[in-house]
Amino acid sequence: MDFFKPMDNLNESSDKKSVSNTQEHVKCLILGSGPAGYTAAIYAARANLAPVLYEGLQPGGQLTTTTEVENFPGYPQGVTGPVMMEDLKSQSTRFGADIRFGYATKVDFSATPYKVLIDDEKWISADAIIIATGATANYLGLPSEEKYKGFGVSACATCDGFFYRKKVVAVVGGGDTACEEASYLAGLCSKVYLIVRKNYLRASKAMQHRVANTSNIEILFEHVTKEVTGDQVVTGATLVNSKGEEVKINIDGFFVAIGHTPNSDIFKPYINTDDTGYIQTVPGTTKTNLPGVFACGDVQDKNYRQAITAAGTGCMAALDTERYLAESHR
Ligand code: NDP
Repeated sequence: MDFFKPMDNLNESSDKKSVSNTQEHVKCLILGSGPAGYTAAIYAARANLAPVLYEGLQPGGQLTTTTEVENFPGYPQGVTGPVMMEDLKSQSTRFGADIRFGYATKVDFSATPYKVLIDDEKWISADAIIIATGATANYLGLPSEEKYKGFGVSACATCDGFFYRKKVVAVVGGGDTACEEASYLAGLCSKVYLIVRKNYLRASKAMQHRVANTSNIEILFEHVTKEVTGDQVVTGATLVNSKGEEVKINIDGFFVAIGHTPNSDIFKPYINTDDTGYIQTVPGTTKTNLPGVFACGDVQDKNYRQAITAAGTGCMAALDTERYLAESHR
């Protein structure tokens, strides 16, 4: 799900409009509600920065679509993603963070105080901004995939797997997400095809092991999806193998798990990103190219992308913000 809507380019008149229409000013504005955003809110609230956090279109972020999180320190028995996000949220509100529904549709960072348009209707300005907008699931880009979105095509096994109990499904991808989704679906479905374009899995050894030892998962290495087929809903897929031969499979659900795109579009006119859209930060900090604008979590991390690293950088962003505000006497 897209966190932000694309931004219209600001022109001079809209800049002036945004300034005159600013309806609220806050000290510390946090955009995004995954582990990075909530951790930033906890630290900022405890430092008396009175943070206001807008949750975005997917409150709780990507972890709300994850099943069991077993590797976040402090949960020896594991925890589900949604529960962990609720824990983080209530921990931040306990210290006074102001958590709000709403998402940023436009920004104006042309001058301080920086301004953000919420829900296309309310401009809010801030002394410092923490961007924690995360990343969004990628799709293959096939017209047939688009046609059946919501009718058998999904990017979230945890959200939609329930509808495919005792049915046959396919998962595309060879990373940890694909393996995790395949394992989860294998517990619900009669059979799961894992469609992998290379001849190996990119996933961690533990996930590879789990998939290889699940009897109702069949891995189709060196297969790419040509088309998702169906009538009103998905009934199959046409794949192409390494010899160029077409392989047809009968399936009821088609789950895409091929990585993510950072939710950075609306910031790009002002904030430096790399060629894949990840926000660039000064190494060892969460500072962007604009003083007073900080980035944390998956929107700036293409390497680690873990809940714990997102939380870590959320903490860094709040500390960087605190220092910036102190140094600039705000
Ligand atoms: P990854 O980028 O790691 O993997 C994406 C997979 O999708 C790769 O196998 C890639 O193939 C494949 N792919 C990409 N584009 C296409 C395409 N057009 N057609 C077919 N296949 C395609 O993304 P993940 O979401 O799996 O993981 C992201 C990060 O999150 C990783 O660091 C991962 O370790 C972490 N993670 C950790 C979890 C955990 O610890 N429990 C759970 C889930 C994720 P190829 O290899 O050929 O490029």
